[in-house]
Amino acid sequence: MNLVFDGHNDVLLRLWRGRHAGSDPVVEFSEGAREGHIDGPRARAGGLTGGLCAIYIPSMKEFALQEAGPDGHYNTPMEAPLQRGSSLDIALDMAAIALRLDRAGAWRLCRSTGEIRNAMRDGVFAAVLHMEGCEAIDAELVALEVFHAAGLRSLGPVWSRHNIFGHGVPFAYPMSPDTGPGLTDVGFDLVRACNRLGIVIDLAHITEKGFWDVAKTSDQPLVASHSNAHALTPVARNLTDRQLDAIRERRGLVGLNYAVTMLRPDARDNPDTPLSDMVRHIDYLVERMGIDCVALGSDFDGATIPAAIGDASGNQMLVDALSNAGYDDDALAKICRENWLRIFASAWHE
Ligand SMILES: [Zn+2]
Repeated sequence: MNLVFDGHNDVLLRLWRGRHAGSDPVVEFSEGAREGHIDGPRARAGGLTGGLCAIYIPSMKEFALQEAGPDGHYNTPMEAPLQRGSSLDIALDMAAIALRLDRAGAWRLCRSTGEIRNAMRDGVFAAVLHMEGCEAIDAELVALEVFHAAGLRSLGPVWSRHNIFGHGVPFAYPMSPDTGPGLTDVGFDLVRACNRLGIVIDLAHITEKGFWDVAKTSDQPLVASHSNAHALTPVARNLTDRQLDAIRERRGLVGLNYAVTMLRPDARDNPDTPLSDMVRHIDYLVERMGIDCVALGSDFDGATIPAAIGDASGNQMLVDALSNAGYDDDALAKICRENWLRIFASAWHE
């Protein structure tokens, strides 16, 4: 089995919601859940040895894609910016769940590539704390230092909405990612602070202007943890050829998003999506950037994924499809885990 370190999941959101409904996150993760995509047993079954686990602040109303028109087009209205106070409460809640799972031995919260490799060797899920949209962080970046001390090693300045650091892209098809302004002044401060502290800056969800603002400011490889090729699926969340070329030049990485809306040529939210759509995006990314810059970023527990994979236990279906498409062991090792570990070693100043 090809062990996978995955670049994006929302399992903390699911566990946080479950806790509010009365379930124990430690029990739900260790013993398994009927719902969602990731827990310990299903991760082991699918060779999912670890991943970037997102602290993500949901909006007050349930997110839903806009219904497509007769031409298949849609443009989901952007959500309103969130309040900082309530966002911080939720972010602390999710970080506490991550720490509790670590203390209970349900997973290991990793802060270095050595810790990730040890967890992988020991067969314990290697969780790395990520923040998807920094609504919980203040302009003075005080909370950033505290979250870093709690294990935060990766963040995206914005999700698909606006905040004090910058602007996100909407869920829209077809649409260019150049949908608005980029980083704000404090957004530039955030990027420099991440460089200093050793926190990966994730370019998923940011506008194209924001992407170039980070590119000209950050000294890290450029990373989009869960995005695909705009040339194949022209949603605003996917990356244009120019962006992919910049990621290649900076020896960065793109993690393949399993979200069907970002894989299918028609961008529809339809789980009946063949594995060949995933292989096609991987082929395109590898052709454009080389094998060292392509990885996985499933979006487990955060999106509709192909029924052929189903949940974390089906993760090897993609690996097998890639193997059948001609990727050898060396290439698969890079896509499945080694490229992510190379990025971490660089961004974390190892
Ligand atoms: Zn996302």
